[in-house]
Amino acid sequence: MKTRATQLKAPGQIVLVERELTVGPEEVLVKGHLSGVCGSDKAMYRGDIPEKIRLPFWIGHESGGMVVEVGSKVREFQPGDKVMAFNWCNTFADYYTVPVSGLQPVPDGLDMDLASLGEPIACAMYSALTCGAQLGDVVVVYGVGFAGSIIAQAVKRMGAHKVVVIDVAEHKLAIARRLGSDVLINARTLDPVQALRDLTKGRGADVVVEAAGSETSMNQATAMLKHNGILALYSWITQPVTLNIGRWHDDGLQIRTTGLVHHTEQERVIWTPWALRPVVQGQVDVRPLITHEFPLEKVAEAFEVADRDPAAVKVVVRT
Ligand SMILES: [Zn+2]
Repeated sequence: MKTRATQLKAPGQIVLVERELTVGPEEVLVKGHLSGVCGSDKAMYRGDIPEKIRLPFWIGHESGGMVVEVGSKVREFQPGDKVMAFNWCNTFADYYTVPVSGLQPVPDGLDMDLASLGEPIACAMYSALTCGAQLGDVVVVYGVGFAGSIIAQAVKRMGAHKVVVIDVAEHKLAIARRLGSDVLINARTLDPVQALRDLTKGRGADVVVEAAGSETSMNQATAMLKHNGILALYSWITQPVTLNIGRWHDDGLQIRTTGLVHHTEQERVIWTPWALRPVVQGQVDVRPLITHEFPLEKVAEAFEVADRDPAAVKVVVRT
């Protein structure tokens, strides 16, 4: 069958083209509901292309939708099932095919707009639930984009005494404040390490979740932790960076990665419903983070806005 589908032709160049789809024996054909522009999509749009990816690239991986057809060997899904995509499968399209291992069923009670962002929401929630934040802690979330803002809400609900959020975008800090964060630090105007020292009377943060993805944020996250504190890594850093990790050793910091999608597919099937449960229950509010929506024919504009507009948190394309 034919579908409209989006290609990243070159950095900064997003085009909507016609694509012929065939459904392989272990693949599922999905009618897309909505697709989100991920931070990683944005990085590639800006020319930061990981080695394993070749241009032109069929872009898009955050989506959900309805199963239309299944390959001859697929037993896990049938037409009419609601699914969430967890693979690079060109989700900025009317229809897309996914290997069966790249899909998850939509949990009962999760509406399709949020289910379509099931991958980024589950990743952020998994990071919050496994970052080690406990009742009474001072928890820093460094970077409050879509993921950071979800993590900040969740750790507050989990009992953090103070949730401190750090970003350079004032409007993102403002959204985090509205969603319950206690202390906002704009890293452009304030030294976040000193601010944390002042706030904790020199002790440092119990947990820092690093969700900004830069050399500076990594080093500052290390510097603002208490002795034996936990550095939880969320962000995707694609270029080599120089880190000052003396403190990791000297002060016995605990370093943990919290990426849900980096478990095996078998484990992911178990962790995803668990990670999404507080969202289904309404304990974490994701809706205010969807700041921009475009129809598929304006997918290039969606990328432009995601790239340039500092007020953009999650940009979605309705397909
Ligand atoms: Zn993503």
